[in-house]
This record gives sequence, structure tokens and C-alpha cells, in this order.
Amino acid sequence: MFSSLIPKFRVKSIFDLSPELLMKHGISLVLTDLDNTLAPYSGQEPSDKLIKWKNELSAASIDIFIVSNTRTERAKKFSALWGVPYIDGAKKPSPDALIRAARRMNRAPGETLLIGDQIFTDVWSANRAGVLSVIVEPLKLTNVFYILRYIAELPFRAFAKKFE
Ligand SMILES: [Mg+2]
Repeated sequence: MFSSLIPKFRVKSIFDLSPELLMKHGISLVLTDLDNTLAPYSGQEPSDKLIKWKNELSAASIDIFIVSNTRTERAKKFSALWGVPYIDGAKKPSPDALIRAARRMNRAPGETLLIGDQIFTDVWSANRAGVLSVIVEPLKLTNVFYILRYIAELPFRAFAKKFE
């Protein structure tokens, strides 16, 4: 179980996933977590920077797909504003939603990456689905629970290689 919790790669933020690097790793589909990866838990809209990043990926024929555990209207609204497909209520660490998303986009797991801010949901689901797992630094650690969880994740984060 320990090894299935180790992210393949680590980055500071989602913006470190440049089209050039993604293409170098053979990735044409980026599955992404929403909360604390794309926006803080309270964030309702994609930032200008996220819109620019999405356009750069689109120009390189790299698709984005939100896979979120949230069950609120947020994922739907956020995805519509950003212009990307989504699955909410994904039940990560189950790999099912990731596999469904890749199928919907006609991509093999080997062409697919999942980026997220949590080891015990995002990374575990990606490793079980056979897609490349990338851990990002959470955008905001707003309460004690998030901070404790982050500390518990540090040993796993330490094993991840820099995405380059
Ligand atoms: Mg998250």
C-alpha cells in the first residue's frame, strides 16, 4: 500500500505543467482535482491565469478534465465557466471516475495524468487507475485539520520526483 501512495512527480503549482513538459511525458489529457488544486475551497471562478494556462494546453491539443469529490454545484459552475468537462462526486481514492474520464476522452491511461493536492484521495486514485500521479502544494491550508493532513502526507511527498 505504501508505494501506491507515492506520487510519481511533484510540482509547486498546476502552472508548472507546461505544454512542453506534458508532451515530453506523452501526456495529452490532464485530469485535475478542483479544491485546493485549481482554486481555494471558496473559489467559484477560474482565475485569468487558469484561463490562459488552459488556452496554452488547448493549442497543444492537450485536454483538461475536472475530477472532483465535491458534490456541490461548484464543480458544475466552475467547469462551465472554464469550458472543460467534469465528473463530481468522484469518490477518490476509487479509480473509477478517472478511468471513466479517460474513456470519455478516448485516451489510454498512459496518455493521462492526474494532478491533485492530496495523497490519500488524488494520488491513490491515480496510481490505482494507472495514470501518472502528480502532487501539487495545496493552495490554502485554512484549518488545523488540513495542516495535520498535510504533515501526514510529507513522507509520501518526499519520495516524489520533480516533474521535469
Ligand atoms: Mg483537493
